[in-house]
Amino acid sequence: MSILVTFLGFILGVVINLLADSLPHYRRPKGFHCPACSAKKTPLAWSGVISFLTGNRECAYCGKLQEWRAPLVEITLAVGGYLIYRANPSYAVFISGLVILFIYLLIIVIDIEHRLILHIVSGPSALVVFLLRFLNPEPEFTETIVGGVVGFFSFLLLYFLGQLFAMVMGRLRGTQIDEVAFGFGDVTLAGVIGLTAGWPGVIVALILGIFLAGIFSFLFIIARMLVRRYSPFMPIPYGPFLVIGCLMVYFGVAKSLAMLLAP
Ligand SMILES: [Zn+2]
Repeated sequence: MSILVTFLGFILGVVINLLADSLPHYRRPKGFHCPACSAKKTPLAWSGVISFLTGNRECAYCGKLQEWRAPLVEITLAVGGYLIYRANPSYAVFISGLVILFIYLLIIVIDIEHRLILHIVSGPSALVVFLLRFLNPEPEFTETIVGGVVGFFSFLLLYFLGQLFAMVMGRLRGTQIDEVAFGFGDVTLAGVIGLTAGWPGVIVALILGIFLAGIFSFLFIIARMLVRRYSPFMPIPYGPFLVIGCLMVYFGVAKSLAMLLAP
């Protein structure tokens, strides 16, 4: 059974790579193709792990090498599937956990590579996460809905504040500031996270995410200052950190941490 769940995770990893290679460009799934020249891939190159192992990393047409992202995603989901199953072999918990991991890994990969959170991903994700609650007793129906609403609207407020801040600073400095802290994609993501974590988990998830993003950007700014390339209005990629916060709440890591710090 362990082998089966690991294999299932691996297959879902292949699907994530397929979606991450096509959705940002075509807004719909497209068969296995090279992201550079869009030539069809040979079956041995469909999976990142298999293409690396069999020496089929290079595109036969344009010579572009398969990114490291592909095997990384497949291994992450395979290991993730195995760990979720080991932690709780219940059918409902396993399916929900794997689907949650699938959704958020796809969101992170596209956000890191394209600085985008696609509506075509977050829309269906919101629906799927909502439906998952019928498999599990928690969070309850109202907690799920309240979580989603709180996530979405708190970030909508931050989004407008960010726009306002950019406008005021732009006026003061006499230049246009195009890069804003939160994009609208982050608002939809916060909604999906709210549905996932439920109420009051959504608060912990989002605060954790913002906190982690803050630590990251602080270290990043220091590193940039050391090489003297600091610019004050650099946008922080919030998406991946919000997702980490959400997964920590969903898989109970945040709770264990809190118990550890304040028993
Ligand atoms: Zn190619």
